[in-house]
Amino acid sequence: MRYEDFYRQSIDEPERFWAEQARLIHWDKPPQQILDQSNPPFRRWFVGGTTNLCYNAIDRHLAARAEQLALVAISSETDVTREFSYRQLYSEVNVFAAVLQSLGVDKGDRVVIYLPNIAEAVFAMLACARIGAIHSVVFGGFAAHNLALRIDDAQPKLLIAADAGMRGGKVIPYKPLVDAALTEALAPPPHVLIVDRGLDPQMTRVTDRDLDYASLRTRHEDAEVAVTWLESNEPSYLLYTSGTTGKPKGIQRDVGGYAVAMALSIRTVFDIAPGQVMFSTSDVGWAVGHSYNVYAPLIGGATSLLYEGLPTRPDPGIWWQLCERYGVHTMFSSPTAIRVLKKQDESWLRKYDLSALKWLFLAGEPLDEPTAHWITDSLGVPVIDNYWQTETGWPAITLMPGLDLKTVKFGSPGLPAPGYGMKVIDENTGAEVAAGVKGVLVFQPPLPPGCLSTVWHDDDRYVHSYFSHFKELLYSSLDWAIRDDEGYTWILGRTDDVINVAGHRLGTREIEESVATHAAVAEAAVIGMKDELKGQVPVVFATLKQGVTEDPAVVALAMRQCVTDQLGALARPARVYLVSALPKTRSGKLLRRSLQALVQGADPGDLSTLDDPAALDEIRRALEEGPEQGS
Ligand code: ATP
Ligand code: MG
Repeated sequence: MRYEDFYRQSIDEPERFWAEQARLIHWDKPPQQILDQSNPPFRRWFVGGTTNLCYNAIDRHLAARAEQLALVAISSETDVTREFSYRQLYSEVNVFAAVLQSLGVDKGDRVVIYLPNIAEAVFAMLACARIGAIHSVVFGGFAAHNLALRIDDAQPKLLIAADAGMRGGKVIPYKPLVDAALTEALAPPPHVLIVDRGLDPQMTRVTDRDLDYASLRTRHEDAEVAVTWLESNEPSYLLYTSGTTGKPKGIQRDVGGYAVAMALSIRTVFDIAPGQVMFSTSDVGWAVGHSYNVYAPLIGGATSLLYEGLPTRPDPGIWWQLCERYGVHTMFSSPTAIRVLKKQDESWLRKYDLSALKWLFLAGEPLDEPTAHWITDSLGVPVIDNYWQTETGWPAITLMPGLDLKTVKFGSPGLPAPGYGMKVIDENTGAEVAAGVKGVLVFQPPLPPGCLSTVWHDDDRYVHSYFSHFKELLYSSLDWAIRDDEGYTWILGRTDDVINVAGHRLGTREIEESVATHAAVAEAAVIGMKDELKGQVPVVFATLKQGVTEDPAVVALAMRQCVTDQLGALARPARVYLVSALPKTRSGKLLRRSLQALVQGADPGDLSTLDDPAALDEIRRALEEGPEQGS
């Protein structure tokens, strides 16, 4: 079907369109009403229908593909690969569900999962889904305080944790973090279920509270646990946003709408048919991991690869080696990861047979054009940028090669996905802007199935955070965008990432893009610095590619010239600082607000979402030492 017709029908006749899509999944009781919009901005999809995510992800496939691989969990950290067929996954998830039940976990109870990217994380999520418990996965390795906050928000019946994670060959004990978090938390759960890989011989246990998963597992080895059917709008899971712009929001997902969005997108967006292999490099702790490592590939009857480790270890060819070994059809990663690989020798991409690979999808951050060109040329397959948020749960702007591939335009994630009533509007008047004019990206309610139902326990925050920015009731993405006359959209950064130079509002992303066109630059961050005369001026922090030997002052000057040539003298960076790493959130997003604070000599505020504190120390030193001389 043509994309245009598909999309049009989803907007013009949403009930008819989604009634049709609902047939992609199994319902125990079919929906009585497709859409209930009686209480906007809330909306309910597939009202009265009952279903179950775990049943759709596993049980439904047993008749046709029990022996097919469902999950392959690869760790380049422990050097262990574990393969599970659908039958084996069924059995592991049933055992896990029986263990949960034996610990008193019931429908509607919350379970916090704090595990590395290992198979047990997937078992635990699906086991919760099976019995109607609500999982809240917290990215493994988040600090104790972050974990405590999320525990108090969810008030879980159980915490599932690991003895340790590993990163770059180094063991990171989790248990001390868990103990600290439970001391800090006001609502600590009675039990901690520990998945022990034996990585931390020093691990201590609290008697009666801490339980060992392996020993409980043997007690329930042949368990089969009945599926708990849930009404489509009951909560399935909670997941926090990355905290790039402020305090993370606890996104609440439903059951039926999410299952339908997963079934639709795995086929039409990611072009995965049953039996094919999908490799998403995400961690299960992020939105991409939930949707495209766990739920969508399994609901779609595919094989999902899960990867624990760095893209460069044991060598920068590891991901491509896995693509060859498993015949990966669709790969999904992030611009940040690709920029890491871009620093390495390109020959790593040519070492392996990638003939099965059809698409590389990238999401999470703006995909700058130089990186898009580099990876497209090196890989020789279409690279598809897709825009989404933790809130949406699946791509909101993307191309849909599983339906009908449109031209890839570099720098643009493409066209709205089905059900997203997308508009770009003037931030002041709320009127739609013309093609080529920058505005705020918004979605006209109802949000499609799969998007958040609300903020956990905080309906007011849901309304206030997303729907209170304009006179009309619109979901604000809080991102700037621009559309061309064919409807392709470019994301120009966050609405709070704007600098005002002599009365002109410049998006920091545009300047970053321009700086990144210099051949020596690996990655750049631009922020505004106070200036007596102009109000604000742009300041660049950049990392260079490995092996660049040019004089830093010369590179800095050339970078500034790139901006002057491409965007005009107004946007010319006032200063350039070259550093070895930029501050990122744990999900790999640039944490501009921390740079901004340091430049202004202010307290960088809540840094709990920061990945590597050493990066900020280096920035502090760079600020003291002054910019590159070429500036
Ligand atoms: P918080 O909402 O807590 O500040 P966050 O917005 O970083 O954190 P996420 O939901 O992980 O949390 O990220 C969504 C945001 O990531 C989008 O709003 C957008 O700014 C950015 N983003 C995601 N994909 C793309 C893309 N393909 N192109 C440009 N930006 C993207
Ligand atoms: Mg956000």
